[in-house]
Amino acid sequence: MSDTGRTPKSNRLIMACAGSANTGQMTYQLALELTREGQGNLFCLAGVGAHIPGFVSSAKKADEILVLDGCPLSCAAKNLEQAEIPFKHHIIMTELGVKKEHGKSPDTGEVARAKEAILKALPAALPSLFPMA
Ligand code: SF4
Repeated sequence: MSDTGRTPKSNRLIMACAGSANTGQMTYQLALELTREGQGNLFCLAGVGAHIPGFVSSAKKADEILVLDGCPLSCAAKNLEQAEIPFKHHIIMTELGVKKEHGKSPDTGEVARAKEAILKALPAALPSLFPMA
């Protein structure tokens, strides 16, 4: 079961920095939306950052990992690097043209445009681990 309580559709994990600025918030929103749309599975980055063995070993077993960071500080990617977990895709919201602003909620249009850019950068959803009969 993924963090959203739905049955996993693929073995691509999605990890978001989930920071407090608009750009960080949108990474979590995007990770949720991409998970709901079958593009991967939201995964607990905090568990990885805490070096909890089950989280680290599950992440290491993933076929691929999509990391979403809000800004170039790349907190999510650094969490993975420190746990020696390789990741394939790393997308930074400010590099998509979103201005980082504290105390601001994500803009709906910017979230939609970021999702479009992410989907263009990703290969199609990975084959299902649990194909529908
Ligand atoms: S990557 Fe940037 S937006 Fe995300 S948690 Fe770190 S400082 Fe905040």
